[in-house]
Amino acid sequence: MEDPVIQSAYQAWRVEVRRESGALPDEYDGVVGLPLSVAKQKFSPSQLTNLGQCPFKWFADRVLRLAELTEAETELSMSLRGRLYHRCLDIACKLVVGLNYETKEELLNYLHGAFLEAEQKENLPTLPAWGARRQEHLTTLRQTILAPDFLSEGLSVLTTERRFEGEWYGLRVTGVIDRVDRTPDGLAIIDYKTSSQPPKGAKDIDDKLKLDIQLPLYKQLAETVLFPGEKVALAYYYSLTKGKILKKVDGDEEALAQFANNVKVRLQTGQFPVQPDGDREACRYCPYDLVCRAGSRLNRK
Ligand code: SF4
Repeated sequence: MEDPVIQSAYQAWRVEVRRESGALPDEYDGVVGLPLSVAKQKFSPSQLTNLGQCPFKWFADRVLRLAELTEAETELSMSLRGRLYHRCLDIACKLVVGLNYETKEELLNYLHGAFLEAEQKENLPTLPAWGARRQEHLTTLRQTILAPDFLSEGLSVLTTERRFEGEWYGLRVTGVIDRVDRTPDGLAIIDYKTSSQPPKGAKDIDDKLKLDIQLPLYKQLAETVLFPGEKVALAYYYSLTKGKILKKVDGDEEALAQFANNVKVRLQTGQFPVQPDGDREACRYCPYDLVCRAGSRLNRK
């Protein structure tokens, strides 16, 4: 009788040899072959972007449910700062909905109170010298509001933190739009960022992370579900730290329809290979590198 330890060691060795070779991904590299129901999946724009950046990234998160390690916040992390700024502007902007006269002055008046309320709602931990540091953040937000790109003349806030659910090219989707303004030409969709760069999209046909999913999805859902009959004139990412528009997005309908179709096929065929973009931008902040064993082996695939 063969030694069971040798048997499983041999099997593990075979898996590793294949994984390290130039052979296409198999079930040990995310091509599991188990179909998932398209109708049962509900995607946020960031989940769709993850899936479009590297299918395994989405699979590890949403199907395997591999949780990221959470650490106690002892400093103001980027994500906590983002939540704080979003919440503060949400609270303040709600107070000026519909106003289009001296809106900025009103917003500035509400800013301090809104920031304190945001701290409470986000359960801000006790941070060293927070009194002084709060002033720095308030100064940043004040400059952001005063910047010409932030709610320019003639525009008014229509709604903030607007949740939606609906269908996008046959996929069930859900999300929250940071702010919608009314402009003389139609609606403006705004997504706040605390970074100084526009976010990476899904892979395009050149294998670059340039296919933006989020704003075209918001635009379509705004026109069909949230504000039927209204037209979205523009959609853009706005940097809360730089006080300027990072990028305006229109959306290539053909590419987006193709993308959604690819997502459906992936679900139906159970194909979620470890397959980031050629420049490996998708791996930069991905927490699953230990699981997928990214690394030089991917160059051979
Ligand atoms: S580290 Fe890179 S290859 Fe691995 S799952 Fe994340 S994006 Fe994909």
